[in-house]
Amino acid sequence: MKIDAQPIGKIKAPKSPYVYPGYASLIIFSKAGGTMNKTIVSLFMAVTVLLGGCTKNTAEPILTPSASSPDTDASIDSPVPGTATQMKSDAAGVQTVKDPDSTTVLVNKHFALPADYKPKDMVFPDVPFLFKEKIEKREMRQEAAHALEALFAAAKQDGIRLAGVSAYRSFTTQKVLFAHYAEQSGKANAITYSAAPGTSEHETGLAIDLSGSDGKCAAQDCFADTKEAAWLAANAPAYGYIIRYPKGKESITGYQYEPWHIRYVGTKVSKEIASKGLTLEEYLKQE
Ligand SMILES: [Zn+2]
Repeated sequence: MKIDAQPIGKIKAPKSPYVYPGYASLIIFSKAGGTMNKTIVSLFMAVTVLLGGCTKNTAEPILTPSASSPDTDASIDSPVPGTATQMKSDAAGVQTVKDPDSTTVLVNKHFALPADYKPKDMVFPDVPFLFKEKIEKREMRQEAAHALEALFAAAKQDGIRLAGVSAYRSFTTQKVLFAHYAEQSGKANAITYSAAPGTSEHETGLAIDLSGSDGKCAAQDCFADTKEAAWLAANAPAYGYIIRYPKGKESITGYQYEPWHIRYVGTKVSKEIASKGLTLEEYLKQE
């Protein structure tokens, strides 16, 4: 949130009478000064939201995730900025994939999984995650999970300690997330930073976001400069995984470079994709 960047004294009195009680609270509490200010502003914002979010400027920082938000459960793989119009027109023409259980299934803004698709062979891969709970986002399809275990073991031998950040995401979870974002900022905006249900690769059970075991830069751009990212780029293909959204291929994948998001496709395909410098889209097109 960027609330702190806004000096408390410069907040203008909202014009709407509905937010005035919140503003009054701000004036009273801000006299306490110092470290209280942040809390006071939050209180002001909370009051504003309770009153219906009448003032756009104050409601936005709380409710709208950044378009460049990292790929965590709260904010999904971020589509390339500026493609909102393109994606909006695509939305009507999204096709449903016929082979959702294939390890090479293509899921992107143009190809969606069938509604309510649920992979059948889900397991908890025996690798460390940044959290302890055995919950949905720890699950993966069995074949991908076993390959992930081998990948983690190989990384460890090379002195690279990886951790899972987020793997499976069900259609229902994606639907709830997307509906939440659409409600807050409108569907046209939501689709610029969130994936519509059925179109997130995490729903296949074949994709996972990784970080180093310290969790630094987890699903953030700065992960690109870590030794873990370098190791993954060089070694993931040997274990059937690809860096799904490579740098420089944004116009093909529809997503920004995400060095942390790996996708299982099997070793035959992963090795060919890596050696030829392809994306999954390009690989399938040449088939
Ligand atoms: Zn991801």
